[in-house]
Amino acid sequence: MHGTRGSIPQPNETSKYGGNTSCYEVLTDDHQIIFDTGTGFQNVALDEHRTTVILYGHFHHDHIQGLPFNLDVFAHQEDIYLSSGLVNRQVLKNLIQTYFSGGYFPVDIVNILKQLKFLNCSTVQRKLSPKIELEMIELNHPGGCMGYYLKTKRGKFSYLLDNEYNADQLDSLLRFVDGSSLLMWDGMFTEKELEHRQGWGHSSIEQACIFAEQANVEELRISHHSPSRTDAQLDELSKMLTSPKVSFAMQSTVVEI
Ligand SMILES: [Zn+2]
Ligand SMILES: [Zn+2]
Repeated sequence: MHGTRGSIPQPNETSKYGGNTSCYEVLTDDHQIIFDTGTGFQNVALDEHRTTVILYGHFHHDHIQGLPFNLDVFAHQEDIYLSSGLVNRQVLKNLIQTYFSGGYFPVDIVNILKQLKFLNCSTVQRKLSPKIELEMIELNHPGGCMGYYLKTKRGKFSYLLDNEYNADQLDSLLRFVDGSSLLMWDGMFTEKELEHRQGWGHSSIEQACIFAEQANVEELRISHHSPSRTDAQLDELSKMLTSPKVSFAMQSTVVEI
């Protein structure tokens, strides 16, 4: 886990749980699969011996802003595949190119970095198959967002950031994450904070605990921490995580599945 913070990087009092924005790396035998390229992406070592695939849930800035700040991207000899279940490859390319060019960024990285290859998600699914099963689900987030799971013979990783949970999602999410070794859950807010943040696209820590009780998952880690939350506050909030399978995600953590 390279980036566990939501919305904006936060360097103050976050050394334990992490201040970089969303980026999660999954290594399989042959693939390096990266979920989102927030500022945590600067610390990902691109693997020359595995095929690198970057999957975007959506394109809010905290999920893409780190892409050109990883120096390996410039030196990488192999193709780097970028994809999203939310849009087709041409739309994805346009989004990334617009964000990293013109008045927003000094260089046009899509033009410079020929190794960046934009693929439709169906193409990625075919490329990964049959060793890796990749599925997606629509989440509840302004502008749309896709959740994913990756499943191999060793285990299943489910990724549900960013999502504003509602009861209508319960059955479909339970089915989607069923059998997960590890589930990432958006717990940016507490229930009290959520009262004034309806429609912002994020869930609560309490909802994570209730969902974990119902879900057939080995482990749930709450992430996309609020940028205003310090390590001490997360430590305090962790007292309400009574289930042994629920914890707060920490940057730089490695989970063996
Ligand atoms: Zn976000
Ligand atoms: Zn978002």
